[in-house]
Amino acid sequence: MSQPNHGLGPLAAGSRAVVVGGGPGGVATAIALKQGARALGRDVHVVVVEGKQFTGHQQYNQCAGVLSPPIVELIEGDLGVPFPHSLGHVMITGYVLHTARSEIVLDGEAEPSIALRRVEFDAYLLEAARERGIDILSARVTGLEFHTDRVVVYTDTDMLEADVVVGAFGLDEGTGVLFERAVGYKPPPALSSVVTKYHPGESGMAQFGDRIHAFLPTSAQIEFGALTPKSNHITINIAGASVDANLMREFLDMPYVRCTLPRLENAGKYNPNDLHFYKGRFPRGLAGHISGDRFVMVGDAAGLVRAFKGKGITSAVLTGIRAANVILRDGIASGAFDAYRAVNNDIIADLPYGQAMRFLTIYAARTGLIDVAVRAAALDPGLRRALFDAVSAHRPYRDVVREGLTSAGVRAVLASIGSRNTPKVKDRNGSG
Ligand SMILES: Cc1cc2nc3c(=O)[nH]c(=O)nc-3n(C[C@H](O)[C@H](O)[C@H](O)COP(=O)(O)OP(=O)(O)OC[C@H]3O[C@@H](n4cnc5c(N)ncnc54)[C@H](O)[C@@H]3O)c2cc1C
Repeated sequence: MSQPNHGLGPLAAGSRAVVVGGGPGGVATAIALKQGARALGRDVHVVVVEGKQFTGHQQYNQCAGVLSPPIVELIEGDLGVPFPHSLGHVMITGYVLHTARSEIVLDGEAEPSIALRRVEFDAYLLEAARERGIDILSARVTGLEFHTDRVVVYTDTDMLEADVVVGAFGLDEGTGVLFERAVGYKPPPALSSVVTKYHPGESGMAQFGDRIHAFLPTSAQIEFGALTPKSNHITINIAGASVDANLMREFLDMPYVRCTLPRLENAGKYNPNDLHFYKGRFPRGLAGHISGDRFVMVGDAAGLVRAFKGKGITSAVLTGIRAANVILRDGIASGAFDAYRAVNNDIIADLPYGQAMRFLTIYAARTGLIDVAVRAAALDPGLRRALFDAVSAHRPYRDVVREGLTSAGVRAVLASIGSRNTPKVKDRNGSG
């Protein structure tokens, strides 16, 4: 098989790209590559290798499926794919933040997020890629060989040769090892998560409403928990350095979680899929060696996400589009991918702020300082907005930290230390 792009310059006509993983990051890269090359008058061959079947209800994706802005603009504007508004979804209108002693409603003015079923979203995007002339190989990548003139990609059904390989395999540990052996890649540090779902019936869903409930328990092991409304059920997840099924049971038993979950309409309607637990992981920092001659990582595999929470799907799509642009404009050499780091500086520079926010939130939740902040936020719109932005992931953490530390916000925190009850905040001890 001869390859026309043996050099390491921008991907030329007739070149081949193999994308390992058909999640949002992989598919966004593939579509942006194919269409971007076409716009430049180059026809490139793009193959996405995906090991899972997204159709036919065989897969469960742990992801809560909340799509944050600007996902619609990225999918429609950058990729030219109509956003799948027809997939059953909930428009998330805001958040309720629960701490051990208080809760506060956080409704921002920002564009709402959209909650939908992740496997249906992935299936839709993969089909959109196929329609745009991208080959979808249903197989698992099992080995990689990097040569000076090409990359050989082994799968469990076929062998492929490529000028460039894109790693879009999420946090798949086995695939991470393949890249580690081949090119010295190091997977990103990650938080663990346990997920389950609950179908309370139609009136239960109506009672629950369209807000995500976020919990910051005092537990040393659960960093946060969330109840997310979907079209016919509530997705429940917890996260921490090492959470497990026992901690999920502990979370479900916490009185404020029990009070927030609607009661089942009647016992006969119990859905057998309810309260089955699934494990997942979130990256919380940058991976090592995410690019080099003939390879680049996108999305979770790169750790190019927010360090604390939220927006993983949007970041995967965004970094996929950015990787494709760099491959077409700058080339596929290690040095060319410096441009990839540079265009992702908004995410990379925000990681220390997200990490600081994470440690501060853990500390505040465990010491009760978070209750003080929540009470203060009831009086201070700036602090309330900072809390909304932190929970919703709508703005960079750097801006959230700066806004949260305005003198008005800090004054409000100090003022609230002596006062337990303030308007808009419900105190669990009864008033509010
Ligand atoms: C509990 C939980 C809840 C979450 N909720 C949200 C949320 O509400 N909103 C949000 O934006 N993000 C959420 N996330 C994060 C989000 O799921 C990820 O950030 C996002 O999926 C990353 O996309 P990706 O394309 O990089 O990777 P993935 O979506 O993980 O896709 C990787 C793909 O690669 C395939 N693959 C891996 N190895 C191979 C191989 N060797 N051969 C072939 N195929 C392979 C996998 O099958 C998979 O389909 C959540 C994560 C967890 C754990």
